[in-house]
Amino acid sequence: MGIKEDADLFRIRSQWKMDKMLCQCGKAISDVVYPCPTEGTIIGQEDYEVLCRTFVEQTNSFFDAVQQSQRAEWLDEHFGNEYPQKTKNGDVVPDIFNLHMAPRSLCIADCKNCGRLWIQTSPGKNEYRSFLPDNTGYSRVLALKGNTAADE
Ligand SMILES: [Zn+2]
Repeated sequence: MGIKEDADLFRIRSQWKMDKMLCQCGKAISDVVYPCPTEGTIIGQEDYEVLCRTFVEQTNSFFDAVQQSQRAEWLDEHFGNEYPQKTKNGDVVPDIFNLHMAPRSLCIADCKNCGRLWIQTSPGKNEYRSFLPDNTGYSRVLALKGNTAADE
């Protein structure tokens, strides 16, 4: 994995971005902004269980490495030698999460025009399957539900 710039989090998250596609209804779905209210990620319960366990194990492993002065080696081993060593410990945690989330989850996009949901067929694959709701129209399935981080 090649990570060079300060936008590391974005680059790791962007592995599951869909970029742009044409919906069956004729409108383009694109995600030029991040976070995007018409784009999301879905994960099944089985993968979620594995993700949670792996995330906790890897986070503990990272902080053990920090305590044992093996931080640089740990980062090289898990993120590659281009990962910025200056990244704060707390900022490494979401990178660990995203590293293990990406191969266990699928992109999902919501068409603002027809309400059709587009779900990636498998992690990392640029192929989507569409699902048209019985009641068509945009219903903000993926739009923000909780408070923004600034509100919490
Ligand atoms: Zn559509």
